[in-house]
Amino acid sequence: MSPSPLRVRGVCPHDCPDTCAFLTEVEDGRAVRLLADPAHPVTGGWLCAKVRPYLQHVYHPDRLTHPLRRAGPKGSGQWRRITWDEAIAEIATRWRDILARYGGEAILPYSYSGTLGLVQMSVASARLWNRLGASRLIRSICGEAAAMAVNATLGVRRSPPYRDVLNSRLVILWGHNPVSTAPHFMPWLLRARRNGCTVVVIDPRRTRTARLADLHLAPRPATDGALALG
Ligand code: SF4
Repeated sequence: MSPSPLRVRGVCPHDCPDTCAFLTEVEDGRAVRLLADPAHPVTGGWLCAKVRPYLQHVYHPDRLTHPLRRAGPKGSGQWRRITWDEAIAEIATRWRDILARYGGEAILPYSYSGTLGLVQMSVASARLWNRLGASRLIRSICGEAAAMAVNATLGVRRSPPYRDVLNSRLVILWGHNPVSTAPHFMPWLLRARRNGCTVVVIDPRRTRTARLADLHLAPRPATDGALALG
């Protein structure tokens, strides 16, 4: 009988608030399987579609592991491998030229977190762009609208622990579709519902969450304010 693979506990490396726990099975020094860690109390047993095939990202033969320079017209797929020193030197030369000719604000950093982690994303990155005098941009393209809405509604960007929903008798999900956007909340909401909690969804769209609700109110887009005023 072959020995069982080594199981290594870890968490998703993406800068995503859920921080899903996973187990990696390793054989002969190579990761062979990635599983959601069923023992985790919140994220247990579920990874999103982006991360489930993570080992294919890691070992895919087309994974980019070195700099390439375009060697033909855009879109032609012609590339030439260059060294890291060449790539960094070319970027630095171009940036110096932009700084000298137009000033730092002509450079707009447009990236966000990925798997950078807080130190690289929020500390190292900010210092670099500040030193260059680059233009400033709220670089999150996914979370800022939600952050503004939560701040405007609650005054702070906080939420109670998911399990607290078990104490609720009525939950109103207004413009929120947790089946798609907060999947780790759903098992708790469904448990609350089984315990007698009523779930109301307010959303112009018949979302997957709306289909599960006890009551779905679908105001015309932009009439939420009138509904809120009763
Ligand atoms: S939801 Fe996906 S990206 Fe976010 S922590 Fe979980 S596995 Fe990672």
